[in-house]
Amino acid sequence: DSAPFALLGLGDMGTALARAWLAAGRTPTVWNRTPVRAEPLAAAGAVIAETAAAAVAGSDLVVVCLLDDASVREVLADVDLAGKDLVDLTTGTPGEARARAAWAEERGARFLDGGIMAVPPMIGVEGSGAHILYSGSRELFDERRATLAVPAGTVYVGEDPGFAALHDVALLSAMTGMFAGVAHAFALVRDEDVALKDFAPMLAGWLTAMAGYADGVADHLDSGDYTRGVTSNLAMMVRGNATLLRTAEEQRVSPELLTPFMDLMKRRLDDGHPDEGTTGVVDLLAR
Ligand code: NDP
Repeated sequence: DSAPFALLGLGDMGTALARAWLAAGRTPTVWNRTPVRAEPLAAAGAVIAETAAAAVAGSDLVVVCLLDDASVREVLADVDLAGKDLVDLTTGTPGEARARAAWAEERGARFLDGGIMAVPPMIGVEGSGAHILYSGSRELFDERRATLAVPAGTVYVGEDPGFAALHDVALLSAMTGMFAGVAHAFALVRDEDVALKDFAPMLAGWLTAMAGYADGVADHLDSGDYTRGVTSNLAMMVRGNATLLRTAEEQRVSPELLTPFMDLMKRRLDDGHPDEGTTGVVDLLAR
């Protein structure tokens, strides 16, 4: 796919995307609200457009990577998108992506939303694990995949344009919980005579060993049997939580990151589910 394409938005992520395409011998037409950010890319061979409309006019494929959905709306407000392929790599909610897809369709464009699972230094680096989740027009994805695959791996998650954002945010939400756990763990050990550089790989190894937990939760939710294959049951884990809390107290560490999840575990136990794992917490979260 050597069709001309545009990239709107040259922040940290947009710039990393542009550099990956340039390194692969592809020349995007780039535009940024603050023109000075485009200058280093011009030196590297990118074509600079004066306006977003001009960048889009000369391109079949338009990739946007802006701050948020409001900036996408603003930048594309008066741009003619008829017959274009619009790929929106701006992070947003599933609802925003669905509304943006309907909006693009009304303007005669095919639409694909993308959720970038990487930080800028991983973009365009073979073996970095960087990938982008895509949802929306399957045709667009298939036809433009060669171009889209240059900066990062491509994973198509469905025709529903909200699905890339849904998957993206689900993964980021789980990561947030993991970061909370890591913060609590370091708070426990850091004032002791513990070599943090030795503790870190021990912690990373433990988290990796526990990652299969996700498969168990999926199996429970799919089967409706939340006790299947449970090796540590809820009754035992809730008792164990008391040790975690007493240790936090001994170490003078606030338990505030742990207690919301522990409270839900206790509630599920009190509802009469001692033989489950923690999957029942998923039910308690549903509003
Ligand atoms: P930056 O803050 O570095 O860049 C933001 C970009 O949006 C700039 O090009 C800025 O232009 C532009 N912008 C903001 N508001 C407007 C507006 N109203 N009109 C026109 N342009 C506007 O962010 P990133 O590049 O890091 O992120 C871009 C997207 O990528 C975000 O949605 C982010 O969530 C996502 N992403 C970023 C990751 C990261 O680690 N950086 C990881 C995964 C996803 P100007 O230069 O003029 O200010």
